[in-house]
Amino acid sequence: MSFKYAYNTRDIKFILKEWLPTAEVLGYDKYKDYYGVEDVDMIVDQVRKIAAEVLAPTAEDGENIGVIYKDGQTYIPPSFHKVYRFIQDNGWGTSNMGHETEGALPTLLFGVVCEILAAANPAFMPYVGTASGAARMCQEYCSDHVKGIFLDKLLAGEWGGTMCITEPTAGSDAGDALSKAFPTDDPEIYKIKGQKIFITSGDRDDVDNIVHMYMARIDGAKAGTKGLSMFVVPKKWANEDGSLSDNDVQCIGVEHKMGLKGSATAALVMGENNNCRGWLVGPPTDEKGNAMGMAFMFNMMNGARLDTGRMSLAVTANAYWNAKDYGKERVQGYLLTDPRGPRQTINKHEDVKLMYMLNKATTEASRALLTKCYYYQDVAHCDPDPVRKQWAQDRIDMVTPLCKAYPSDEAWPLIAESLQSYGGYGYCEDYPAANAARDCKIWSIWEGTNFIQSLDLMGRKWTQGKGKAFQDTLKEIEDFIAANKGLEGMEREMNHLAKALSSYREIQNTIWTYMKDPAKLGLMGVYGRRVLTATAQMYCGYLLLEQAIVVKKRLGEIAKDDPDYNFYNGKILSTRYYLNNVVPNVWHVEEIIKMGDTSILEASEEIFEY
Ligand SMILES: Cc1cc2nc3c(=O)[nH]c(=O)nc-3n(C[C@H](O)[C@H](O)[C@H](O)COP(=O)(O)OP(=O)(O)OC[C@H]3O[C@@H](n4cnc5c(N)ncnc54)[C@H](O)[C@@H]3O)c2cc1C
Repeated sequence: MSFKYAYNTRDIKFILKEWLPTAEVLGYDKYKDYYGVEDVDMIVDQVRKIAAEVLAPTAEDGENIGVIYKDGQTYIPPSFHKVYRFIQDNGWGTSNMGHETEGALPTLLFGVVCEILAAANPAFMPYVGTASGAARMCQEYCSDHVKGIFLDKLLAGEWGGTMCITEPTAGSDAGDALSKAFPTDDPEIYKIKGQKIFITSGDRDDVDNIVHMYMARIDGAKAGTKGLSMFVVPKKWANEDGSLSDNDVQCIGVEHKMGLKGSATAALVMGENNNCRGWLVGPPTDEKGNAMGMAFMFNMMNGARLDTGRMSLAVTANAYWNAKDYGKERVQGYLLTDPRGPRQTINKHEDVKLMYMLNKATTEASRALLTKCYYYQDVAHCDPDPVRKQWAQDRIDMVTPLCKAYPSDEAWPLIAESLQSYGGYGYCEDYPAANAARDCKIWSIWEGTNFIQSLDLMGRKWTQGKGKAFQDTLKEIEDFIAANKGLEGMEREMNHLAKALSSYREIQNTIWTYMKDPAKLGLMGVYGRRVLTATAQMYCGYLLLEQAIVVKKRLGEIAKDDPDYNFYNGKILSTRYYLNNVVPNVWHVEEIIKMGDTSILEASEEIFEY
């Protein structure tokens, strides 16, 4: 394996300084004494340097040393220990979650910091991400007593964290979990018994303790997700005198994965000796057996869904920038348009440029999608106006499944394009594309497969608040088109956005018709992932055109020999490419969905024997 960090931060700086209202975010009370827009370059450059000089040199250890399980203990690569402490001690990690942390970055800035870091060592970042998720849960939902035990340790990165949902019988359907919780004399403490699998950062040797956010059913609670409660189950019990003792949490093995080999994925058994205790989060089950666990866990899952989209973007973009570096060196063949001319580097061939453009346009689209969501998060958390807060929360709810699924669905085919651009060397471990391909595949699977995300979109987000929030977003796009349809030089692209919006409304109406017809309800499952992709493509088309308005203005102000010319000109070309070559998929999907082909519904299990 040969890892190389090739990250470019120019688009990130454009987003923060020229497109999104960063000044508005930095003006909120929580941030106004610490940062201004003029600090953006310094923050981005500093993180880029840390990523290149501190994180990236450890990436190959993840791949070459990997995670080792021996005698009930999991060992992560030694270099990860040092990097973990560096990131946590220097304020680039979990401490950013703290409500009281002085100088914490807003989500808009912290999100891009995490993107820049994730590209440098994708297998390392989940150690920070899981600790941060557990810290956020503890801060939001635990009692003061439980916070007193865990929160400072989590925020300092001294203790790790996990999200424990999946069990051998409970994957996509978390409600099938068999883990049980039994009351003790202390109403806050339960005895826990059960098994969890596939737990990211579930065991490790670089921290003194691991705080598992654990889903289990209190004895007598309802079946399904409604009966699940959340517990804080530490690997080691924290005694009142500050010492740690065994809490009957055993790691029974780690997975041997196709990628992300430095990230520990553990199988855990709780309460084998009947001595595992956990702190109940929130109230016990009510008299009807309903519990609150899943509502709490959604907070952690939604955070992890954004992390997933961001990691997908980071690894895809890094693979693309590596590929284009290779393309500058490799000489092969002649130009189609100049067959008698000199031999050329492959980055001049149309098909190779197509591979780069697909990557450039789609990663810029994904970055626009994610950063817009970070902005909404800051407004939802910090804005003093409750109406604006709710507006931002509605937007977050709508875009979260898109942020998780679109970059992660695209990562695999886009990295395949980067890999293809190397020719034979793409298939070899001498260059980084093969490793990126192996790393990225998990992101369309974990945190709810992308099919599950599409059910969330169609089943929940379309109709949330009687459908108003979603329809408001479509109206926002409609108003944008009406106000900008004459955007000089981008008239065709604006038309394509308008056509996509109209198709999208048709897609929604058609799916709703299928939902009401028992004979066709299954088509929702057949088309779900396509609908999600079309939603993201239409929405990203809108965001890229919003950016294009700013870009065109800047292009009008600078000369062709300006150092920024290629960046701005490139953004116009990638926007044109996206609107003319990617967004048309929306009306293609409309046509397919309206056709309502039932071949999958009619297919018996037996036909797949052949
Ligand atoms: C590396 C790694 C790290 C992970 N980290 C964590 C973690 O930290 N914490 C945690 O709790 N879990 C974790 N997971 C588990 C992960 O979230 C699950 O693997 C994922 O949710 C899918 O569940 P499953 O593997 O049981 O697949 P299944 O649920 O068996 O799904 C298999 C296929 O069937 C489809 N499917 C399932 N149900 C339906 C349905 N009703 N309708 C249509 N299609 C359906 C799925 O979309 C999928 O394509 C991790 C997994 C991996 C591999």
